[in-house]
Amino acid sequence: MALSTQLKDYTIKLPAAAVAANQSECFAYAQPTNQEIEQLAAQFGAPLMVLDCEAIRRQYHALKNALPGVALHFALKPLPHAAVVRTLLAEGASFDLATSGEIDLVASEGVPSERTIHSHPIKRDSDIRDALAYGCTVFVVDNINELEKFIAYKDQAEILVRLSFRNKDAFADLSKKFGCSQEMAIEIITYAQQLGIRIKGLSFHVGSQTASPTKYVDAINTCAKVIAQVSELGLPALSTLDIGGGFPVPYSADVLPIDVFCAPINVALAQLPETMQILAEPGRFIVASCVTSVASVMGQAEREGKTWYYLDDGIYGSFSGLMFDEAAYPIDSAKQDGMRFDSVLAGPTCDSIDVVSESIMLPKLNNGDLIISRMMGAYTLATATDFNFFKRAEVVVLNEQVHSQVLTG
Ligand SMILES: *Cc1c(COP(=O)(O)O)cnc(C)c1O
Repeated sequence: MALSTQLKDYTIKLPAAAVAANQSECFAYAQPTNQEIEQLAAQFGAPLMVLDCEAIRRQYHALKNALPGVALHFALKPLPHAAVVRTLLAEGASFDLATSGEIDLVASEGVPSERTIHSHPIKRDSDIRDALAYGCTVFVVDNINELEKFIAYKDQAEILVRLSFRNKDAFADLSKKFGCSQEMAIEIITYAQQLGIRIKGLSFHVGSQTASPTKYVDAINTCAKVIAQVSELGLPALSTLDIGGGFPVPYSADVLPIDVFCAPINVALAQLPETMQILAEPGRFIVASCVTSVASVMGQAEREGKTWYYLDDGIYGSFSGLMFDEAAYPIDSAKQDGMRFDSVLAGPTCDSIDVVSESIMLPKLNNGDLIISRMMGAYTLATATDFNFFKRAEVVVLNEQVHSQVLTG
């Protein structure tokens, strides 16, 4: 993926005292303060994305604890960044890949291929060959046409069949575009047996930022039926269930704490055969909270009684998630004092849809003042463009080496 090579990274080391404090609190970790963010913006300029690896560790372990026995494959799509890959690799995570660019990124960071799966349901022959050349051998299909692509690779590849479960409540109803019915799954598995292609198990994705665990429970229950049906038909037993991504994070509205959210999912998983290997493909949950973005005010104008502040980052940049992802990021000015007025935050491009907020209460700002946005890690940079030649925000990486720093004193 070209993204990671287009971004400049700077590794910042926090003072040893701060590192030790984080370590001893064992993931009870505070986000970078506004003051720290302002210092970084003064040093590196705006727009800037501050990527805190400690937040990635915290989220990874929170989900790991909430889903005991489930192998977590981080889906690179929401934030395909080398520092994220390195941090998760060091914590023992596995990875969920969808493109050859993502394979290049994990391969260049030394991720062992046994710790990866390839979950794009629709692939070119070259995508399959790139994955196999790297050593990734687990693939996803949801139709017969796709299954037949594996006739040539039946000695190397193993297949997960993706089922669809519609979810109108999710940010992204991924089951509209991918996945098959229960009946089609059986048809694919039966045909695979005739072709000599190994079926490893089933997968699904209930949709991103799913508010209720019921979607997972229903999907797991249906998969349990398919698993039983496969045995009854005398087909080779399925060994794996991949419960996908979709785990929610608190943007502006609160969501269930992750251990509460996962409790019914664990109950549903417990009814599966004991030998069943369970995977998940979390993306947003791992990275949403790890990035704080900073933009600065380029100029301002009074229009119809409101002040419009024009930022150096917008809808075509780090705030692309406002268009593609409907995420409501907590956005505020670095300046906290002074009376607040209903204001507009606009992006820098000459396009009229490039508005970050139509209505936000802000103190009177000067040009150059900073706007700080939290929870900007998932589907932000990843979907940013250089439209109008406004460069994407650069990335500053914090706390990447926390463990080795502590070890070397
Ligand atoms: C996008 C995606 C994910 C990650 O989903 P989140 O909602 O970000 O957790 C996982 N698996 C697949 C197949 C995806 O397309």
